[in-house]
Amino acid sequence: MSEMQHVIQRDPHEPEFHQAVKEVVDSIRPVLEKNPQYRRLGILERIVEPERVIMFRVPWVDDQGQVRVNRGYRVQMSSAIGPYKGGLRFHPSVKLSILKFLAFEQVFKNALTSLPMGGGKGGADFDPKGKSDNEVMRFCQSFMLELFRHVGPDTDVPAGDIGVGAREIGYLFGMYKKLRNEFTGVLTGKSLNWGGSLIRPEATGYGAAYFLEEMLATRSETIAGKTVAISGYGNVGTYVTEKINELGGKVVTIADERGYVHDPDGIRGEKLQFMSSLWTVHRRPAKDYADAFDCEWVPDRRPWEVPCDIAIPTAMENELDGSHAEALVKNGCRAVLEVANMPCTPEAVHLFQEHGVLFAPGKAANAGGVSVSGLEMSQNSMRLNWPKEEVDRRLKGIMKNIHKMCKETAEQYGSPGNYVVGANIAGFVKVVDSMIDQGVV
Ligand code: GLU
Repeated sequence: MSEMQHVIQRDPHEPEFHQAVKEVVDSIRPVLEKNPQYRRLGILERIVEPERVIMFRVPWVDDQGQVRVNRGYRVQMSSAIGPYKGGLRFHPSVKLSILKFLAFEQVFKNALTSLPMGGGKGGADFDPKGKSDNEVMRFCQSFMLELFRHVGPDTDVPAGDIGVGAREIGYLFGMYKKLRNEFTGVLTGKSLNWGGSLIRPEATGYGAAYFLEEMLATRSETIAGKTVAISGYGNVGTYVTEKINELGGKVVTIADERGYVHDPDGIRGEKLQFMSSLWTVHRRPAKDYADAFDCEWVPDRRPWEVPCDIAIPTAMENELDGSHAEALVKNGCRAVLEVANMPCTPEAVHLFQEHGVLFAPGKAANAGGVSVSGLEMSQNSMRLNWPKEEVDRRLKGIMKNIHKMCKETAEQYGSPGNYVVGANIAGFVKVVDSMIDQGVV
């Protein structure tokens, strides 16, 4: 039986997890051929099986006094190179398949950062949309009442993801501290006053722009003068836009599940200010932007039909499919950067690669966030804070190094320019060699 058939047969109802595993397994075939001992050591069987999965009830009381119950999870995928590390997602779509795919991706992403972090992911099917601040607090407290037994600064260090930002991290941290009677770096993405790192909110967006600069440079191009389409307008979308503006590019779209905004003049100045709090503070729909600045709102469509040089999906898995990819290629798009986790379907990725579009997979392009989380852990361990310039300089160094590693690994394995192959092989080899060093455990 092939590795994929084995994975599918074991968990037939986990399509997102299968998708993430298949991409890695397809990329690493040449490594397996060169290293026949990996088969005897059960490497593939081991990396697709989480070290531990925790699933738990999260009961909480809403503002009307009604008891509600959500399902909480933490998938501890791999501790081969460090404590489990990865975000928490609060979103109604959360289920085991989604968290296993995210945890699996995180293992290789974290390996690429060159920081000592294993991979994990967690969350709940809780929808923060429309909930009061008190409801969110009670939910976070109940979530941590179970999670605290399974995490710790040397065991597992969660952070934010979709639906979990500084506010949620604060409530989670407060409850952890009370339960353990310890002030430790158990979570990252903390606020600055109590252990957070400068540049952490900006890190995913800035890091992506640094990666993009490197990738474009391989074709002697720069961000200056380029038109960029993005989707999500949360933390990641905001800071990717800020950095692209700084580097002379122009971002012309934002989107949500109801449609997209087209602003051909570019999102900058007062408009960027507006965008930055639209979701993260006010949890408002994208259409508010079109209403506020009198620009085009296109309902029930995705932004990938807008002519652009660069497309940057920043929202959800599988948000950009084959038909969107066709439209982008037809309109002359030259680079696609996954700044969400697995936002492009396999068909879309295939189309980009077939047409010579530069394509950066999420585990490389969006690694800036978790990298600065790693730097936050280092600062917490040393009990000091680095200045902004220091963190930004390290982030830039890490992103440049990830780019170099992906590019060189792809060349070494006979797929020049294929960042998917480069990222998967470089991440895989590091994790697997660490597992082998540590024996069969
Ligand atoms: N959720 C982010 C990611 O997908 C950040 C994880 C972290 O900082 O631990 O990489």
